[in-house]
Parts: sequence; C-alpha cells; structure tokens
Amino acid sequence: MKDLRFALRMVRAAFLMLRRPLFAFCCLLVRVDLTSVSGSVRYLVASPSTDIWKWHRRLGHLSFDLLVRLSSMGLIQGLPKLKAQKDLVCHPCRHGKMVAASHTPVSKVMTSYPGELLHKDTGGPARVASVSGKWYVLVVVDDFSRFSWVFFMEFKDEAFGFVRDLVLRLRNESHKAMRAIRSDNIGEFKNSLFENFCRDLGLEH
Ligand SMILES: [Zn+2]
Repeated sequence: MKDLRFALRMVRAAFLMLRRPLFAFCCLLVRVDLTSVSGSVRYLVASPSTDIWKWHRRLGHLSFDLLVRLSSMGLIQGLPKLKAQKDLVCHPCRHGKMVAASHTPVSKVMTSYPGELLHKDTGGPARVASVSGKWYVLVVVDDFSRFSWVFFMEFKDEAFGFVRDLVLRLRNESHKAMRAIRSDNIGEFKNSLFENFCRDLGLEH
C-alpha cells in the first residue's frame, strides 16, 4: 500500500516535471541524498521555513500558485505547507518575462497651449450603480493644463456624445485650434461615428 502510494506520487510528480522542466531540475537538486558521503555530513537538509519567498527562490523562481499546490500535495520531501498569498510580485521574474524595455518617462509637457491635445478613457462597469443609475465613467484630460472633465454614464456608448459636446464647446471657447484626441483606441471610440466626427473637424485620433 505504501509502495503504491509512493508510485502514485511519483507519477504525479513526473506529470508536473514534464510541464515544468526548470522545476524538474530544481526538484532533483532538493532530493539529492548524500548517503555515500563519509564523515559527519550525510544529508543536504533545507531549512523548513514556511516563507514562500524563500522557496520561490530556492526552486528556481517557481510560480507561487504551483508552489502552494505542490506543498499541499506533499510531492517534495521537506517542503512545508505553504499558505497562498495574494498579489505577490517577484521583480526578477517580472523583468525576466519582459519582452521590451519600458518607455522612458516624459517629464516635460509636449503641448504648447490648453486644448491642443485631449486624452480620454472610460472605466466601468462599476460593481454597484450610482444613485442615478450610472455604471460607467468617462474621463477627459487636457494635456497642457491637466484640467480634467469627468462624466458619468448609464451606457458606454454615451461617451461619444459627451466627447463631441466637449470638443465643440472648447473649439468655441478657445482661440487656438484643437489638434488631436488620444485614447486607447478600443471599444467605444473605435467606430465610424467618432472617426467621421474627427475627420470633419480635422482632428487627429
Ligand atoms: Zn521570482
């Protein structure tokens, strides 16, 4: 019975190792048995720490979820029960997964007058609707002054109407021409209605 249980454990470990070659290598390191070494030192013993960060580094930066799963399955001798923790971010892992260098921050204002460039984005739906039944929010920020407008919406497609009214009002109030509107170019701002509006006013989007 004991042998059968051990065999089953090995099958599950082999399955995981096939999916994680780096982990397999690290497992081999942990399971090294130094019985053939003469003298007082006979075993390589890992500290039974329950610090998940320590085990993450020891096992070659293995993912935290897999670490917790393995510890609960008891597949590694000497690995204590580890508790799952939320929002753990390992910076070396994050850097290792980056495929491009991050953009250098722009510290100076690139525009020369208010209303030249507007940034806009929408957020939502919120978990709970507002008292007046709004689920979404539209934020428009002027690049030069950082002045912001916030609009609350029941439906996301109301965004175009708010942006259109704001742009037309700013064009009347300002003596200088608006040059561009910038967004993440998805969803509510990627439609022919908005594209035609920008083209008619000569706005870059
Ligand atoms: Zn890591």
